[in-house]
Amino acid sequence: MKICKTVKEVKKEIKKWKAEGDTIGLVPTMGWLHEGHLSLIKNAKKGSDKVVVSIFVNPMQFGPGEDYDSYPRDLKRDAKLCDKKGVDLIFAPEVDEMYPDGFCSYVDMNGLTGELCGKSRPIHFRGVQTVVNKLFNIVEPNNAYFGEKDAQQLAVIKRMVKDLNMNVKITGCPIIREDDGLAKSSRNSYLTPEERALAPIIHQALDLGKDMLKKGERNPQKVIDAISEKILSVGVTKIDYVSIVDALSLKPVDKIESDILCACAVYMGNSARLIDNFSFEV
Ligand code: AMP
Repeated sequence: MKICKTVKEVKKEIKKWKAEGDTIGLVPTMGWLHEGHLSLIKNAKKGSDKVVVSIFVNPMQFGPGEDYDSYPRDLKRDAKLCDKKGVDLIFAPEVDEMYPDGFCSYVDMNGLTGELCGKSRPIHFRGVQTVVNKLFNIVEPNNAYFGEKDAQQLAVIKRMVKDLNMNVKITGCPIIREDDGLAKSSRNSYLTPEERALAPIIHQALDLGKDMLKKGERNPQKVIDAISEKILSVGVTKIDYVSIVDALSLKPVDKIESDILCACAVYMGNSARLIDNFSFEV
């Protein structure tokens, strides 16, 4: 497995593979890899001849006061995991390599980003779109793999690829969870033992909401209230949002009449903001 730090090195390797007729699968990550990331790698191995994992904590997608500085980083540890899973190349650039002096071009969109995480993280998706675009241009993947855990991100990337006629097939992969239901996340490492013990309430509350929908509840506010109440009942004090939005437009709905996404972001203690979601087909 190769570890490349520069765009030039990656492009050289990609050119060689393309000349040999290999297809390329890209798994973009911010590192501190866990089973969620590894499941994307597994999917990539199935669908492509060569698998590239990018590891880059992208400053452009963090707002002021967010956890850019404290985000966990350990390339050695991540490289071992990737090697074990048969990854062919890791692209782990420094910030200067991705955003050299004078950098001033961005990719952005007008829809899909106004609700959910976009409300409290107004510059987040511009940063995500820009870095993913750059990664696509550098790696030229046939396939790219994203987790359904970041459902809004997945919708944004799919839309961007469609709108801008990009030649990449996007595959969404299911959420991987701990045994107690907590969605795996690099940010779970911020949790104190007490917060970790409370955190599965997020998934339990979403499950309660899903049950209500299965039993026929079609008033989104009732479902949102029940989920919020359950999360707050264990002593969690700050919910960023619990929302039910149309699965395609990601706009809030008054009545649940077509497929929806139910998503939430919850603060556990001071440092960890955890997200989770489920989709429901009507
Ligand atoms: P991150 O390193 O957090 O930016 O995540 C990189 C990719 O892994 C994104 O496409 C995430 O949606 C995906 N991912 C993160 N956690 C999980 C999980 N628990 N299950 C499935 N995919 C995940």
